[in-house]
Amino acid sequence: MGHRDGDGWVACRCGAAHWGLHGAAGLLLVRLDLDDPHVLLQLRAGWTHGGGTWALPGGAMDSHEDPVAAAAREAHEEAGIDVASIVVREIYSDDHGNWGYHTVIAHAHGDAGAHEANGESEAVRWVHLDEVHTYPLHPGFAASWTALHPLVRASLTS
Ligand SMILES: [Zn+2]
Repeated sequence: MGHRDGDGWVACRCGAAHWGLHGAAGLLLVRLDLDDPHVLLQLRAGWTHGGGTWALPGGAMDSHEDPVAAAAREAHEEAGIDVASIVVREIYSDDHGNWGYHTVIAHAHGDAGAHEANGESEAVRWVHLDEVHTYPLHPGFAASWTALHPLVRASLTS
């Protein structure tokens, strides 16, 4: 059993402060059983950092975790994701030097049990892949979506 040792802020070389002493990871879950691919977004509760914006379920990595383990744990805690029902396809790492955010792209053929599972989620919603950019997104997620969107598209055909 590992313990939680990743919570805390990092003063990043990019000039920003980021959450996660060992970096952070999030799950970009793509649902394939609908007419078009949808991705799971989480409305962050008002009291959280970036509260009131939409982002991926995720959070700080612990020192003993890899990105997949951290993203799966956070997605289960926050959005009830049954990690046994998802298939990891790709990891996109946004490396800032002394901090990084790892987005784990995964596929599911159902809702994977998605629901608001703890107080960090105001709501969770399956959003059409081409409508994600129309949501009020967390700034960090918005900045990476330009890179993530084509990767998700590519994951559907590879
Ligand atoms: Zn940074």
